[in-house]
Amino acid sequence: MSNPRRLPQDEAAELSTARAWRIMSRAARLRCPNCGGDRILDGWFALAHRCPTCGLVLDRGESDYFLGAYLVNLVAVELILAAIMVVIGIATAPDVPWTLLMWGGIVFALVAAIACYPWTKVLWLGFDIMLRPVTHEELALGREDTRAVSPTRHA
Ligand SMILES: [Zn+2]
Repeated sequence: MSNPRRLPQDEAAELSTARAWRIMSRAARLRCPNCGGDRILDGWFALAHRCPTCGLVLDRGESDYFLGAYLVNLVAVELILAAIMVVIGIATAPDVPWTLLMWGGIVFALVAAIACYPWTKVLWLGFDIMLRPVTHEELALGREDTRAVSPTRHA
């Protein structure tokens, strides 16, 4: 049974590898995964309320929407850190610089988590759009919403 809110071409697009590539490449460039529009960042740590180009509400109406992005950020940074530490440990054995690894690891984890933060949020949004395509009703609701058209901070 098909979802009545989506058009038949949306169902076909859902299965396309080209569509998935397009969505994730837009996200990797910090653009709206849905339309490719820019200005979706509201500073380094937040997204605008909605895309100024297509009107998509970027948290998709869920207050805890980006919890998954935080998890992706944490896991990605920790995996990279673990790989770096293993390589350094193997390369310098048996005289492993444990103090350098400890302090360097702490600094790396903090800096990398902050540096990767916007990408993890937009990639998370892109991944969600791949699995749960944007509906016409969702875009219409975003256009009707009068909050935050431009990426400026609102109280
Ligand atoms: Zn958009």
